Amino acid sequence: LLFPSRLKIVEHDFGDRTKFRQWLVDDGFRNNFRDPMGKEHVSCPIIWISKSLKDGDPDPADIEKYLGGYDKTLDWCRDFMEPADGADAKPEAVMVDDGHTPDHGYEYDLVVIGGGSGGMAAAKEAASLGAKVALCDFVKPSPQGTSWGLGGTCVNVGCIPKKLYHIGATLRESIHADANYFGISTLGTQPDELGQLPTIQTESQWNVVKDNIQNYIRSLNFKYRVRLREKSVQYINKLATFKDAHTVELVDKKGRTSEVTASRFLVAVGGRPTPLDCEGADLAISSDDVFFLEKDPGKVLCVGASYISLECAGFLAGMSKDVTVAVRSILLRGFDRECSERIGNFMQQHGVNFKMKVTPSKLEKLEDDRIKVTFSDGSEDVYDTVLGAVGRTADTAKLGLENVNVQTNPKNLKIVAKNEQSTCPNIYAVGDVMEGCPELTPVAIQAGISLARRLFGGSKEPMDYVNVCTTVFTPIEYSCVGLSEDDAIEKYGQDGIEVYHREFLPLEWSLSQNRHDSNAFAKIVVDKTAKERVLGIHYVGPNAGEVMQGYGISMKNGLTYRQLTDTVGIHPTSSEEIVTLAITKSSGEDAAAGGC
Ligand code: FAD
Ligand code: NDP
Repeated sequence: LLFPSRLKIVEHDFGDRTKFRQWLVDDGFRNNFRDPMGKEHVSCPIIWISKSLKDGDPDPADIEKYLGGYDKTLDWCRDFMEPADGADAKPEAVMVDDGHTPDHGYEYDLVVIGGGSGGMAAAKEAASLGAKVALCDFVKPSPQGTSWGLGGTCVNVGCIPKKLYHIGATLRESIHADANYFGISTLGTQPDELGQLPTIQTESQWNVVKDNIQNYIRSLNFKYRVRLREKSVQYINKLATFKDAHTVELVDKKGRTSEVTASRFLVAVGGRPTPLDCEGADLAISSDDVFFLEKDPGKVLCVGASYISLECAGFLAGMSKDVTVAVRSILLRGFDRECSERIGNFMQQHGVNFKMKVTPSKLEKLEDDRIKVTFSDGSEDVYDTVLGAVGRTADTAKLGLENVNVQTNPKNLKIVAKNEQSTCPNIYAVGDVMEGCPELTPVAIQAGISLARRLFGGSKEPMDYVNVCTTVFTPIEYSCVGLSEDDAIEKYGQDGIEVYHREFLPLEWSLSQNRHDSNAFAKIVVDKTAKERVLGIHYVGPNAGEVMQGYGISMKNGLTYRQLTDTVGIHPTSSEEIVTLAITKSSGEDAAAGGC
C-alpha cells in the first residue's frame, strides 16, 4: 500500500490481509493512518494497492487496485474491518500484561489443564503458532466408578454418545412410524391398536448399541492422542494441581508425583454432574455412567428437566424403555417457552411420563436391587435406574486455585475471567469452567482457538459469545439462535417486537398416519423498531441442528426480516419454512400453514 506522501509502507511485509488488518487495528487505522514509524497521515488523497513490494516511486504498471481517496479507502478497509450494517461492532480484547516473554525460562510456554473440547483446541492452535505446549488430562472416575479416555466430556460422556443414541432412537421411531407407509416391510413392528410400539430392544440389543458406540469412542480417543503428537503437543496423562502461578503438581494413576512449570496456564477442566441432594442420592447414576451401562437400564427415572435429562429421557424412551421425568419447575429453563411446551407435549405423546413439580426426597435400594423413590409430594414409585441430571458443577474444587488467587464463583465454582483471563494474569480459562460461557462444545473450541491466537499469534479479537446456535436433541429436535420470545419481550417490550410463526407437517412425516399429531414449528422474533432486525430464530422439528447452523451466520451479521424473506428457499425442506414466515402473531391468524 503506497501513500502519495512517498512514505513507502510497502516495505512492511504484512504478509496477508489478516496481518494488514491487524496493523490497521493496532497501530494506524483508528489513528488517522499513523504509519508504523509513528508518523501521522491525516490526509491520504490517492491510495492504491501495489502488485509488488518494490521500493521507490509508485509505478502505474505496478498498481493492482486503485482504491481512490480517503473515504473510498475507509470503505475498503471497513469491508473487512467491521461487521455488516446493523451488527454490533466488536470491541478489542484488552488483556492484562501477564509477564510472558520469549525467554521466560519455564519448561513450557503454555500448559493446558484439561484435554476436552476447549483444552485440546487451544493446545493445538498454540503449538501451531510456535508455542511449546503440554496438555494434562486425567479422568477422575465417577462415583459409580465409570472412567474413560482422552477428549473430555463431549466425546466420551456427552455430545457424541448422546447423539448416537438419539440417532438410534430416531431410526427406530422412523421404522415404526413411517417405514410401512413407504412400502418398506417392518414385519412384527406394526403399532398395535392403541398405537403402542412393540418392544424390539432386548438386553442383548442394548449391548449391541452400547458396545458399538464405545468402540467408536475408543477410536476417537486414539485419534486425539495422535493429533496432539502431530502438533507437537506433549500429552501428560496426570491430574494437575496448582502449586504457584508458574508450577503445577502432577499425580499419575499410581499416585506418583512430579511437577511442570510454564509461563502461562490454561484451565479447561470442564465440569462434572452435580449429584442429587436427597437421602440415598448415591444410588443414582449420572450422564457420566448412562452410556456405559452393562445391563439394560429398564424402567428409568430422569431427575431434572433441561438438556441432559430430556435428551436422555428421549433416547431411552425411543429405545423402548419406560421413562419418567421428574420436573422441579419447568422444562428447559431459559429456552423459548412455547417451543419448550411443544417438546414436552411431543415427548408425552411418544411415551415419556412427566411428574410435574416434584423432586425426589429419598432413594432406597430394595431387595431385588430396584430403587424405591419417594417424591416431595409424598408419592412413591420403583425404578430400575435413577438418572440425576440436575446441572453440572465446575471441576475446580481440588485444583489449588486458592494458591494462585484465581477467583471463582462460590455457587458453581466457575472461574471468573475477562477475555478468558483469570484474576491471576498468566492463568486463563476456557469452556465449561469459565463463568458466563455457554456449556457447549463448539463454544469451548472457538474460545480455545481465539485465546491461543491472542496469546501467541498477535490477535486482539475477543471471543464472541453472542448469538450461539444450539440444539436440544429431544425426540422432536429443537434448535435456536438469539433471543427467546420471552426474553425479547423482557428486553424490548411487547410492543417492541413482532413474532412470525408457522406450524407445519414436515414432508418426511406426511405419508404416515402415525405422525398426524406431530407438527413441526418455526418462529422468528424481530425488533420492530430497527428495520425488523431478527432477534431470535426457533425451529422445532426434524434435523433441527442442521437447519439452524446457517441461520447463525446471518444472525451474526445483523440479519433483518427483509433479508430473510428475500432469500429463496430450498424446496421441499423444513428450512424453507423459515425464509417464508409471513403470519404474524399479533394478527391472531392461525399459524398452521397450508400445502406446498
Ligand atoms: P471437558 O470436555 O469437560 O474437558 C475437561 C477435561 O479436563 C476432562 O477430560 C477432565 O477429565 C479433565 N480434567 C479435569 N480436572 C483435571 C485436572 N485437575 N488435571 C487434568 N485433567 C483434568 N454440547 C454441545 O455443544 N452439544 C451437545 O450435543 C452436547 N451434549 C452434551 C450431552 C451431555 C450428556 C453432556 C454432559 C454435555 C453435553 N454438551 C453438549 C456439553 C459439552 O460436552 C461441553 O460443553 C464440553 O465438553 C465442554 O468442554 P470443556 O473443554 O470445557 O471441558
Ligand atoms: P441445566 O443446568 O441446564 O439444568 C438443570 C436442570 O435440573 C433444570 O431443569 C433444573 O430445574 C433441574 N434441577 C436443578 N436442581 C435440581 C434439584 N435439586 N432437584 C431437581 N431438579 C433440579 O443442566 P443440564 O445438566 O441439563 O445441562 C448442563 C449443560 O450441558 C447445559 O446447560 C448445556 O449447555 C450442556 N448440554 C448441552 C447439550 C446440547 O447442546 N444438546 C446437551 C446436554 C447438555 P429448574 O429449572 O427448576 O432450576
